[in-house]
Amino acid sequence: MNFDCYLFDLDNSLLYIPNPPEYFDNILKETIEFFTKHGVPPREQRNRFWLSGDQYKALLKEWDVILEDYNEFWEKFDALDFKFRKEFVPQGKIRLFSDVLLVLNELMKVGKKLAIVSNTARYIVDYIIKEFDLEHYFDEIFGLGYGNEQDLAKPSPEGIKMILHKLDFNLADSTALMIGDSVVDISAAKRANIHACLLKRDFEKYPDGYSDWEHQPDFVIEQLEEILTLKPN
Ligand SMILES: [Mg+2]
Repeated sequence: MNFDCYLFDLDNSLLYIPNPPEYFDNILKETIEFFTKHGVPPREQRNRFWLSGDQYKALLKEWDVILEDYNEFWEKFDALDFKFRKEFVPQGKIRLFSDVLLVLNELMKVGKKLAIVSNTARYIVDYIIKEFDLEHYFDEIFGLGYGNEQDLAKPSPEGIKMILHKLDFNLADSTALMIGDSVVDISAAKRANIHACLLKRDFEKYPDGYSDWEHQPDFVIEQLEEILTLKPN
């Protein structure tokens, strides 16, 4: 199947991050430590954070991280994330998956519109785009800022809708595909009424499968290259 427009998640979809659960848990741990003197909650507790959606503030309060402005939390989190990426990218520990450039080149060659829709801070997304020379591939990029962007973050469909609007995309006569490795990518895409492709890569990220997800992917692939020859799920 062929689409007019391809939207990509960044982390763990285009960008390889070694051991993502550990990577992001470390950042979460350090961020919590920064804001409370009462110690960091155990790992099982911290794992709840990633699934808490807009309830994350309640969870932080439970852990004695009480802030007037929760953007402060994300600013600290992002600063740590940025610090690690700047360390790991030059070392090659964080890198593009090996099939990314091939796929982007193929799609660009046939005139597809390409965009990134990421829940990572916009300045970090920009850093990655620049480091890996990806500027000329993407017509639009969505990353989070510290205004109302948390409300536009996936699984909300609003970030995707905003990007489609900027691309002059018309649902009535065009088709779009969101490709991502997470349940939030799939939910956001389906709620925005576009096609959704779950990219599994080599991780067993969802060992229990995804049949109980509220929104089902239209396609499931192991490697990104497969989007060039997609068949319905
Ligand atoms: Mg991802």
